[in-house]
Amino acid sequence: MHALSVKNLTKQYSNGLVALKGINLEVEKGDFFALLGQNGAGKSTTIGIICSLVNKSSGSVSVFGHDIDKELDAAKLCIGVVPQEMNFNPFEKISHIIINQAGYYGVPRKIAEQRTEYYFKKLGLWEKRNNAALRLSGGMKRRLMIARALVTKPRLLMLDEPTAGVDIELRHMLWEFLTELNAQGTTIILTTHYLEEAEHLCKNVAIIDNGEIIEHANMKSFINRLDTQTMILDLASPLRDIPENLKYPCRLIDEVTLEIKVSKHHSLNMLFDTLTKNNINITSLRNKTNRLEELFIDLIANNKIQSENES
Ligand code: ADP
Repeated sequence: MHALSVKNLTKQYSNGLVALKGINLEVEKGDFFALLGQNGAGKSTTIGIICSLVNKSSGSVSVFGHDIDKELDAAKLCIGVVPQEMNFNPFEKISHIIINQAGYYGVPRKIAEQRTEYYFKKLGLWEKRNNAALRLSGGMKRRLMIARALVTKPRLLMLDEPTAGVDIELRHMLWEFLTELNAQGTTIILTTHYLEEAEHLCKNVAIIDNGEIIEHANMKSFINRLDTQTMILDLASPLRDIPENLKYPCRLIDEVTLEIKVSKHHSLNMLFDTLTKNNINITSLRNKTNRLEELFIDLIANNKIQSENES
């Protein structure tokens, strides 16, 4: 049984716009799954339907074996959702927001209080427990929504852009928190614009474009498809010209920074050997862009060309 199984999902909004054109998705139990796509691709619509916040036009969704058309309550009990928009009462005390949410789902008050304390402490909200939500910063409001989604102990957590507009320190704290949650058994589905985040956290990935899934793969094997990586090397001493026998496509960004393309068939050791033979010493190296981003941009561009050719 899958944590999530989505078959031939379509959505046409009342204004006639076809947002989903037959989505198929399968997410294993215990997975950390990235649903990626550009703005308007259909990610939020897909998540909205899975969480029954949006009506589908056709197709089926099953959550831990519960079909949302036949066993909606059982399916909903399995899901915790963190939507993009803040959707709580800003005047309510934040601990009440969480305890009331637990109440809707039938969690006894004592247990709800214990869980609230646990998640507030984990997410750095405990000191603010008596504040009204409107007095929280943007990052805290996002963490409040995560605590609210978790208080019912869902088996599947759906996060729609959880780190949008969140500073780096907090983003890292959330990554750690989510990794721990996943290690403890919670299946997580994440949409994000930060592809570095998806590459770092997720085991599997699907890419949605224009209402269709154009890729559904294991993250590691997907990344492995990248033929060349573009690396940036910081040089220990200035270099005026690129030596002719440096047989890699490269260019000098400035005299101490070299951009170099390395095919996956060339090990970095071979690159280092060549550099050493040419008396080029490097102090550090990094990927120019995140590898998932390189693949993502290529895929979207190819899909656009294909769609244009077909029409
Ligand atoms: P994403 O989350 O990937 O940015 P969405 O699922 O929000 O994409 O949107 C997919 C498409 O559906 C977009 O073209 C968007 O404008 C449209 N859309 C989303 N919500 C509505 C709505 N309530 N009514 C009409 N069109 C909508």
